[in-house]
Amino acid sequence: MKQNISLEDALEVVLGKALALESSQETPLVSALGRTLGADLTAKVNHPDADDTSLDGYACLEADAHSAAVGNPVRLKVIGTSPAGNPFKGTLQHGEAVQVFTGTPVPKGADAVIRVEDTLREDEYVWLMRPASSADIRRKGDDLQQGSIYLHKGDLLTPGRIGLAAAMGYPSIPTVLRPKVGIISTGDEVVEPGEPLPYGGVYNSNSYSIAGLVLEAGGEPVMLGKVSDNIDGLRGQLLRAGKLDLLLTSGGVSMGEHDIVRQMLEREGQIHFWKVRVQPGGPFLFADWEGMTLMGLPGNPVSAMVIFLLFGRPFLFKLLSRTDPPFTVIKAVTDTPFSSNPTKQVYRRAVLGWKEGRYHVSSTGNQSSGVLRSMAVGNALVVLAAGKSVGAGDVVEVIPLS
Ligand code: AMP
Ligand code: MG
Repeated sequence: MKQNISLEDALEVVLGKALALESSQETPLVSALGRTLGADLTAKVNHPDADDTSLDGYACLEADAHSAAVGNPVRLKVIGTSPAGNPFKGTLQHGEAVQVFTGTPVPKGADAVIRVEDTLREDEYVWLMRPASSADIRRKGDDLQQGSIYLHKGDLLTPGRIGLAAAMGYPSIPTVLRPKVGIISTGDEVVEPGEPLPYGGVYNSNSYSIAGLVLEAGGEPVMLGKVSDNIDGLRGQLLRAGKLDLLLTSGGVSMGEHDIVRQMLEREGQIHFWKVRVQPGGPFLFADWEGMTLMGLPGNPVSAMVIFLLFGRPFLFKLLSRTDPPFTVIKAVTDTPFSSNPTKQVYRRAVLGWKEGRYHVSSTGNQSSGVLRSMAVGNALVVLAAGKSVGAGDVVEVIPLS
């Protein structure tokens, strides 16, 4: 078992255990937001499906109107109109024009269009005050070409991509099955919210903050409740859940004799590593148990969340084959000092804002890993390498939390 390893080494081990899920399910477009596309999608049609006009006006022959000007208008005979959804069927000849509207196919025979503002209508004739142009014709397949791939397996389904799938002709699309993530909290002192809090007790916040993070990362939380610091109880509760894509435990991974998650895995599992040189979240444990991958998150509420973000989220992204990165890093100016740790990479909770054209961050205050408020007030993590404290006015790397 490796111990006290770096973030990079730990992440390599974690991602090495994450195998892309193959199953997908057909999902109606309206339910696809936030899901992950399960296959490459080719356009079923061209868009536009014919050369069409990008303006309201008249279609004609470019050669008929090249001399048109305000002082020298050109007169054409209007032989028809081509409203959206009911394109003109005939063929246009020299000296003729057809009224067109944005998005309607350019009539056969025409090779240019002119906007209505540059024309004057007089009964069945139209006067052109400027030359008509072919530049305002959108060519067939300009936007989408039938048979070409425009959306890829692993793409997060955003509103724009869902719209594009519709434009490509799909009423429903395959989405990757959401990884099932078991969440269990351990601790004799941990009590479900709603129950009376005994002396020395603490409400179970981890199960709920982690469930939110799992949902945000595209997973399906499976709530396994809480167990006392008792190995038989923990094992029984986990086995009842059946096969899951990832198990997340909270608490019980430190050095103490009541740290039963670590003890159970030492006896019955295969621990890949224990303790990572990051703060908060140092005692993080990563193991295989009963054919499943298990992340032993520390019990401290901030540690549990930060460790999930650093390791659980990238793990789920890989299961989903997500094409976007699990988090982004931006640069910001500090408005307050941030202190580092001599041997660990630290993640300080901060409020990220935008002032005078730059990102700014300020500390949320008390950075103890038991102060969950910092993850509620804060919207970003300031990343500091070991031994690299910063003062106000310095530029730092920041991971936005949403
Ligand atoms: P542990 O990692 O089990 O030593 O717990 C570390 C700290 O986190 C202790 O103060 C626990 O009371 C607290 N804690 C453990 N589990 C939870 C939980 N599910 N929700 C909130 N706090 C917890
Ligand atoms: Mg505990």
